[in-house]
Amino acid sequence: MLVFLRPDADPAARERVLALLRGEGIRADHRTTGGQSFVETPPAGERLRDRLAALPGVDRVETGLAAVRLAEGRVAEGEPARTVEVGPVVFGDGSFPVIAGPCAVEGREVLLEIAAAVRQAGASLLRGGAFKPRTSPYSFQGLGEEGLKALREAGDRTGLPVVTEVMDTRDVPLVARYADMLQVGSRNMQNFPLLAEVGRQPKPVLLKRGMAATLGEFLAAAEYVLAGGNRGVVLCERGIRAFGDETRNTLDLAAVPALRLRTDLPVVVDPSHATGRAELVRPLARAAAAAGADGVMVEVHVRPEESLCDARQALLPEELERLAAECHAVRSALRTGVYTEA
Ligand code: PEP
Ligand code: MN
Repeated sequence: MLVFLRPDADPAARERVLALLRGEGIRADHRTTGGQSFVETPPAGERLRDRLAALPGVDRVETGLAAVRLAEGRVAEGEPARTVEVGPVVFGDGSFPVIAGPCAVEGREVLLEIAAAVRQAGASLLRGGAFKPRTSPYSFQGLGEEGLKALREAGDRTGLPVVTEVMDTRDVPLVARYADMLQVGSRNMQNFPLLAEVGRQPKPVLLKRGMAATLGEFLAAAEYVLAGGNRGVVLCERGIRAFGDETRNTLDLAAVPALRLRTDLPVVVDPSHATGRAELVRPLARAAAAAGADGVMVEVHVRPEESLCDARQALLPEELERLAAECHAVRSALRTGVYTEA
């Protein structure tokens, strides 16, 4: 159980909370995370909770995952989500940025080619992994810093901000030096030291949903980043593990409106990793736009058959162009009231 103190509470307020709990024989620890001061105790009964909440300087008393508070701002009906800026690109303002690029940075030349093509096709951010989370240790692991350099160059040449994954806490400063946005991948959604580390640096964070994570766990992961002081978190639904084998994962589109009811963080959808099949990416990108997503992330390659990873889900640039145009058409249809719900 957490007893949150008001930002203006003086040390006496904290002492009153601790004294009351000690008087009841209950262990209590005072801590501060991300500037928020609070007292943690084992769960207490309703009467004690009410007494604590009534103390001067106490903001509120929360239990369990309900204590996730920075990530749980709700969007009132008709109100826009919190906006997150990545250079000139804004998530959450209705503009529907399209993040596109290869699964992995495979080399400077091919990346420059892909970057120019995705820019031409309507992408607003360039993606590409330099540190790749591969299932097999014998698969291509990414180019590391050489890949980051290529990504930076491609971003600068095209004017597209770049987003790339960071897997290791020790690499956070390195990746943050080159990237405009740091990605925490599905497999690391509950890597708590990594979340805390990206929370302590200022670049915005694209947090992908763990493949077996509930939305509560997803928001609690976002809370780690937010509690570190970084308020630029964009959530990404990328498919969850289910029993079907028709698609690589199962896109949980319900997560988009469901998250909207629980958080004001922008939500984007990655139909590439959700399906693993290029031919299913465009329909699901349209569906994400219709479900109220704030953008999409898709994998694109100029020669998909040459992709070193995730070749089957890579779109051609011309397919991306169509996808972007269709998503924007869906969004503007919603805005002009052709559809009444989003
Ligand atoms: C990626 O976007 O590069 C990636 C590896 O995706 P995920 O973490 O969702 O599997
Ligand atoms: Mn991939």
